Amino acid sequence: MKNMVQSKMFRVLIGLSSSKLKEEPLLMGSQEIFENGFSGTIKPLDPEEFRRQGHLVIDFLADYYKNVEKYPVRSQVEPGYLKKRVPGSAPYDPEPIEEILCDVKKDIIPGLTHWQSPNYFAYFPSSGSIAGFLGEMLSTGFNIVGFNWMSSPAATELESIVMDWLGKMLKLPEEFLFSGGGGGVMQGTTCEAILCTVVAARDQMLKKIGRDEINKLVVYGSDQTHSATQKAAQIAGINPENFRAIATTKANAFGLTAQALRETIESDIESGLVPLFLCATIGTTSSTAVDPLGPLCDVAKEYGIWVHVDAAYAGSVCICPEYRHFLNGVENADSFSFNAHKWFLTTLDCCCLWVKNPSALVKALSTYPEYLRNKASETKQVVDYKDWQITLSRRFRSLKLWLVLRSYDVANLRKFLRSHVKMAKNFEGLIGMDKRFEVVVPRNFT
Ligand SMILES: *Cc1c(COP(=O)(O)O)cnc(C)c1O
Repeated sequence: MKNMVQSKMFRVLIGLSSSKLKEEPLLMGSQEIFENGFSGTIKPLDPEEFRRQGHLVIDFLADYYKNVEKYPVRSQVEPGYLKKRVPGSAPYDPEPIEEILCDVKKDIIPGLTHWQSPNYFAYFPSSGSIAGFLGEMLSTGFNIVGFNWMSSPAATELESIVMDWLGKMLKLPEEFLFSGGGGGVMQGTTCEAILCTVVAARDQMLKKIGRDEINKLVVYGSDQTHSATQKAAQIAGINPENFRAIATTKANAFGLTAQALRETIESDIESGLVPLFLCATIGTTSSTAVDPLGPLCDVAKEYGIWVHVDAAYAGSVCICPEYRHFLNGVENADSFSFNAHKWFLTTLDCCCLWVKNPSALVKALSTYPEYLRNKASETKQVVDYKDWQITLSRRFRSLKLWLVLRSYDVANLRKFLRSHVKMAKNFEGLIGMDKRFEVVVPRNFT
């Protein structure tokens, strides 16, 4: 039976004509297969059972949010707590959802750090929302695997549309949008987005100077740059000695100066190295410092360096006109990313990445095995996002961002972001009046 399913699947994926499909309806769910002689086994997609259990889970989560402030924000458990509470092997017989949810309450919730609690102030925000959760549900509920256009046209097309919407909201230059020859893609996280851009830049450069020269490539950031860039360089095979974390100072509000960048580049060139990639940050992780994009891009351009702008956290607020100036200079960068899963009401994971030159990404990341061949791709009518990222399989992430944008609209999102900044300003004022505390870096955002 399994072989039959697989071979039918295979034929659909490689693109049977629709008339053939009609004769032989394939998308026979597992339910039907089970009913045809496997009665008594599970029905993993029984619609009525899904409805019943799904409602229970929604109610469970609604109660969780109602009570979330009753929990200590930080989990109080000791390492290894769960092993003592959960059996050592999987059950042999089924357990009802009611019982499982009881255990979630009893054993899992105590081990949660409550990121969505109003009393949570650690790291960066991870703002969930009803629209975000529901979008996630739809995406998970359809459970499509949208590696290329054909494997689910809506997933690809909605993603491109939402990325253009967002790009316009951020007033990104036209070259980053599909209409301007660039384009956007939703990655899981910033770490993946930066890795993909480093790899694109690397291959572009090595094509020019020869693959044997990889040991000469240098990647630049500041001592405030997120470790994602160093990790990306490491994975991309950049010589570990050639990652530069250029020193910043309090006098420059911990921003990377163009002068420091230039000096570092000059000294590398003198040593016979090849400058490759700069990650500039809008809103660094330790202090939300802002690197001056304009001057940095000017320097980078002189030396042919790929500039990626990492606005993982602070990018969201740049949809407000009064904060857009933080992105000034992005027009001379090569790629830009921000995490909608941080401060944009969208659930993890959702990193939005735009590039001016998608073909650099595609050249570095595309493969085209026989089983993925199809007419739409071959005639270049479509975007195949598998070639813009590390993995083949990909989620329908745009659905959740689409729901967020439609449910809250631009005006409300701006209000939401501004309200956070206002709270931070108030807090800053209180600290300023209290001799025990000192504000050590300028508060740019929240
Ligand atoms: C959060 C953050 C990252 C890492 O984001 P992931 O999505 O977890 O990879 C990188 N850079 C900055 C500036 C961040 O704030």
